[in-house]
Amino acid sequence: MQFYNSMTRSKEPLVPIDSGHVGMYTCGPTVYNFAHIGNFRAYTFEDILRRALTYHGCRVKQVMNLTDVDDKTIRGALAAGVPLKTFTAPYIQAFFQDLKTLNVQPAEVYPAATDHVPEMLVLVEKLFARGLAYQSEDGSVYFSVAKLPGYGKLAHLDRENLRAGARVAQDEYEKESYGDFALWKAWDANDGDVVWDSPWGRGRPGWHLECSAMAMKYLGETFDIHTGGIDNLFPHHENEIAQAEGATGKPFVNLWLHCAHLRVNGEKMSKSLGNFFTLRDLVEKGWSGREIRYVLINGHYRQPLNFTFDALDAARTSLARIDECVDALTALAGSAASGTVPAWAVAGRQAFEAAIDDDLNLPEAFAALFALVRESNSAMHQSALMPAQAAALLATFEALDTVFGLVRFGRAAEGGIPSEIKALVRDRASARANKDWAGSDRLRDEIAAKGWEVRDSKEGQKVKKL
Ligand code: AMP
Ligand code: ZN
Repeated sequence: MQFYNSMTRSKEPLVPIDSGHVGMYTCGPTVYNFAHIGNFRAYTFEDILRRALTYHGCRVKQVMNLTDVDDKTIRGALAAGVPLKTFTAPYIQAFFQDLKTLNVQPAEVYPAATDHVPEMLVLVEKLFARGLAYQSEDGSVYFSVAKLPGYGKLAHLDRENLRAGARVAQDEYEKESYGDFALWKAWDANDGDVVWDSPWGRGRPGWHLECSAMAMKYLGETFDIHTGGIDNLFPHHENEIAQAEGATGKPFVNLWLHCAHLRVNGEKMSKSLGNFFTLRDLVEKGWSGREIRYVLINGHYRQPLNFTFDALDAARTSLARIDECVDALTALAGSAASGTVPAWAVAGRQAFEAAIDDDLNLPEAFAALFALVRESNSAMHQSALMPAQAAALLATFEALDTVFGLVRFGRAAEGGIPSEIKALVRDRASARANKDWAGSDRLRDEIAAKGWEVRDSKEGQKVKKL
């Protein structure tokens, strides 16, 4: 597989440090509010990436941080008059719910910044030892960008503009105003009771520090892939590199991948512009997580994507086409064992693989998926598909869908069985697994009393209307 590396600005092959395993760090949410669907463009892009790696048999270890201490979370907690953790907890919970709604596979580790302050302090100590950190008059600790020759290599900064000793205290700032950035911020009244002790006095960590410290803790000093939205590239990722490489003297990350923004009317969707929708806003308007996911992944991740309700409409139509085809294949396959797929399906799968292997070319991957839908429909229309081939085609769709995460399988097979009956059948399966034969028989009778027959076969329970 090859990916566009933001550092070198060219496509490069992925060569995992530990063959067959990929370590990947993705900058997570700042949990002061509900994430908006612009944020979820970044998280669905990262989900596609991990699914594509998994498709190729890689074992992925993904780490996503939760930024639960920064200017915004502290401001929110003070305004609400509650401790920081009490303020952030519901947003963390909402974030995980939203990921589920969007069928985003969970990362392996979700470290919270407030649980890793000791690791951050060790990192700052190393930077002092290497002469890269200093304490200013106000007690805050800064990183001296002039002392690290490689500073600016990710954002391709012009070091000519470097103004020695100029400092920026905010977490976010523009390229033009770069200077020494805060590693540790001395306590001030705005911080309320959010404070930690350090060798440099009481204070709290700068935003950039958490990601370097937690990435290295869970993935090692050098790891394979680091991702984020393009707005993270500078200053956040540049500063992550400076802190990590400044402390270890080793390369921090092999591949940097950034997704372009989700836009509204040509502008970045963001909280500060007020032009955003949360996932919840859209679900309340009647859109499903699947439809929203479709819109978010239906484009090349390096191209800006414009959010519109027309796109959601189109997603609904496209998903219905996929569903109808898969349902028809399911009905045709019945209980047939999987045979071999027609030649066009082999070619379709190859086209899909070539697309995702080339820097996650999702537009081409979708084209391959819809070509399979078209060919399947036309083969079924001409009665040219055997049940065993339909079963094999379903397996192909399932394989592709391990990356897309969009398709609903098994609807036709389950079609018409009321959820009440399905629940009883599930209970009966657990009764049987527990060798509770009396319970199993009782449930069979109960199911029969409701007009359904359940039979036991080698493939499990079969249900049909009496
Ligand atoms: P934040 O909570 O602001 O730190 O952002 C979390 C993630 O969402 C980061 O990876 C950002 O780069 C990303 N992000 C924020 N806004 C957008 C947007 N409009 N489109 C795509 N990604 C975004
Ligand atoms: Zn980060």
